[in-house]
Amino acid sequence: MSKSEEATLRREMVETCRQMNLSGINQGTSGNLSVRLSNGFLITPSSLPYDNMRPGDIMKMDFDGTFEGKHRPSSEWRFHRDILREREDVNAVLHCHSVYATTLAVHHKAIPAFHYMVGVAGGSSIRCARYATFGTQALSDAALEALEGRLACLLGQHGQIALGRTLASALWLAIEVETLARMYVQALPLGEPPVLPEEEMRRVLEQMQRMSYGQMPEPDGSNDVARPKRPPAAARKRR
Ligand code: 13P
Ligand code: ZN
Repeated sequence: MSKSEEATLRREMVETCRQMNLSGINQGTSGNLSVRLSNGFLITPSSLPYDNMRPGDIMKMDFDGTFEGKHRPSSEWRFHRDILREREDVNAVLHCHSVYATTLAVHHKAIPAFHYMVGVAGGSSIRCARYATFGTQALSDAALEALEGRLACLLGQHGQIALGRTLASALWLAIEVETLARMYVQALPLGEPPVLPEEEMRRVLEQMQRMSYGQMPEPDGSNDVARPKRPPAAARKRR
């Protein structure tokens, strides 16, 4: 990866951190973010407020746990490292203590298929990982288990993790998880809501895959049932 590609990713990380705060899913110095490089990954420094963060503050790590940079890497570098190493389908890992997701996580409650959008995390529920002390290998192991076949999970008595192919898609998913958690928390006082049957969730997942839910439609309409009349400008230029 060239120096300028890495510099772009560093700027995108700072921007995504700001968006985490602006969207309300993050507060204070909680939360952290990482993105894959060709040989290792970039990760936010530990305990540095996002409002003061600059691209040069982002740390660079190898998969062996060694790092370069002027701070300490996030205390959660183990789960960032392990997820990026084990999950070749994703390039970005976002962790935050968003309020509604954490409200469920303090009760060790998973999010069931009470709403079809639960499927955006890749299955018929968003699991909650068992509790383990922050910054430990035990937490990383628990997170990887809860993320099996999924793009998001809750962390018992802690928060949530969302994954994506890009920083933007990880941020999008974290906000979706928080919205679903909020709906679920608000539905619960009326009684445990009914869940969609597995068979319906299978249809939802197929439909989401077919429509590349949460992604831009392909210029030729191949990933969607509806086709744009004209391909987007960027795709026209490439031809
Ligand atoms: P860091 O500031 O070390 O990234 O830790 C924040 C956090 O959320 C720990 O789980
Ligand atoms: Zn945390």
